[in-house]
Amino acid sequence: MNDSPSGQIIIRGISGSPGICIGKAYLVDREGVNIIKRYPVSEDMVSKEVDRFKNAVIKAKNDHAKTIESLDQQLSENLNILETHMVLFKDKMLYGKTIETISNDKVNAEWALRKVSRQVRRMFEQIDDPYLKARVNDITQVSDKIMTYLFGAQDIRIRDINKRVIIVAHDLSPADTSQIQLERIKGFVTDRGGKDSHTSIVAKSLKIPSVLGLGNATRNVNNDDILIVDGSSGIIIINPEEDTLFRYEEKMARFLAYRADIERESHLPAVTEDGVSLNLLANIELVEEVVSARDNRASGIGLFRTEFLYLDLNRYPTEDELLHKYKELVELMNPAPVTIRTLDINGDKFNPYIDPVEEANPALGLRAVRFCLENEAIFITQIKAILRAAAFGNIKLLIPMISCVEEILQVKEVISKAVLELEEEDKIFNKDIPLGIMIEVPSAVIMADELAAHVDFFSIGTNDLIQYSMAIDRRNRRVAHLYQALNPAVLKMIRLTLEAAKNNGIELFMCGEMAGDPINIPILLGLGLTNLSMNSGSIPVIKKMIRSLNVERARENARTIMGLTTTDEITDFILEEYKTILPYRDVEE
Ligand code: PEP
Ligand code: MG
Repeated sequence: MNDSPSGQIIIRGISGSPGICIGKAYLVDREGVNIIKRYPVSEDMVSKEVDRFKNAVIKAKNDHAKTIESLDQQLSENLNILETHMVLFKDKMLYGKTIETISNDKVNAEWALRKVSRQVRRMFEQIDDPYLKARVNDITQVSDKIMTYLFGAQDIRIRDINKRVIIVAHDLSPADTSQIQLERIKGFVTDRGGKDSHTSIVAKSLKIPSVLGLGNATRNVNNDDILIVDGSSGIIIINPEEDTLFRYEEKMARFLAYRADIERESHLPAVTEDGVSLNLLANIELVEEVVSARDNRASGIGLFRTEFLYLDLNRYPTEDELLHKYKELVELMNPAPVTIRTLDINGDKFNPYIDPVEEANPALGLRAVRFCLENEAIFITQIKAILRAAAFGNIKLLIPMISCVEEILQVKEVISKAVLELEEEDKIFNKDIPLGIMIEVPSAVIMADELAAHVDFFSIGTNDLIQYSMAIDRRNRRVAHLYQALNPAVLKMIRLTLEAAKNNGIELFMCGEMAGDPINIPILLGLGLTNLSMNSGSIPVIKKMIRSLNVERARENARTIMGLTTTDEITDFILEEYKTILPYRDVEE
């Protein structure tokens, strides 16, 4: 952090998505629990404090009852969870104990509630019964709800913010981020989060500047402070001095002009200087993003992350609901291919209604295909919807996080069961679609030859491949310096996967964020990758880069790069070799 005498504060974080915005700060702190202060309550004020707590509970409970009443018939299966919450509001453990703590410790209600809810949570976490253990989430949600009323604030829904502001939050989940209304929110910054976390991926697809992993932005920013967010350099400036503001207004104009310039050329083909053609596809999270994929001339959808359809609901979507979305997507893209990846839930895309079990290491837990194989009915429902949608367009089926041959064999069994059910139900579907797996776990790289025998294509997911091979949590800002796409270990894994795909005659794609950063393109091209899927917004700039590259030279340079042993050497080599064609990297400050 960097303070100046005028009060201007600069905080450095991690670039979430490029671009610059200037505007007023709007604090959204879902984890308000972090900023609760303890203050003493005098003897004669204790009963007033207890009443304040009781009132907050009544309001929270009434609000909750309204939610239950307004519940759609279809959602009635979740009534149980919501009714459990109803009981918890007045539960002796939470309600009774909080009143007791206010009276005995003579402290404010917020402090007492947090103390008690933490105790109750710890108690539940130690219980062996998985059902009871899972109730930890219910306790958290109920006490958070009471807390918002104690603070006198309604629970803020990001989609309801109706001012042109910059969101400042402790953390935003990918689902929160996907609620951002583009016409209202200029950008966002968070204390937590790391490079290529799903929050940053959603920010990139929204094309709004963001800086993540700031550590203490929420403590330093107040509502209505003027903020500069420089998403390209990963910094924010709080209450900038006049000349800083002036400089950044110019910088913002330069960035917008640069982006417009690149986009003007986006209709040109992705062909290298020496005539090699590349296939640039789009990664999307929501069907609505098809517009941007098409505007940016994607030659298809290389990755449709389906989990967002599950994150906003407090139940599983039905087969027909999924079919409706997938069909809309393939029809919009037809005849271009649409790669639908099956549910990659858990990890950092967690929905407490769907799977209420909190894991100590979610990235290493029951995530993606592991979750689907444990919950076969849910998996079958999704596969049936995908096969039915395949009757209307060009679909490829992609399975995330395969870590061994057994898993792909099990997936194939589940697909056969889905086919059988569709036949019995006499539904129209198409089972002759390519089946692929994500290569994003080091064990899959090592077994790529054996895995290739069972599938039609590979798609390298570098976001997780980097996370798992470097042993760093992609959301953790403290290890973000080790999140290196150009690390020699990562490059060697890519080369191994490529060789396995080539030897077995199957197609190879890359759909991690690595494919959307121009600095990585020379080595990817030099190694022989030709199918790159990325955030639609990155397509024009990658295309521009490709159009200035020569494959022969890239191959030669790849041989040199693969002989280097550190990320710095590799980065310096690429920066030097390609300095005349690497795009805008305005990293002053
Ligand atoms: C990846 O891991 O590279 C990937 C594309 O998938 P996700 O970011 O959704 O984990
Ligand atoms: Mg992944």
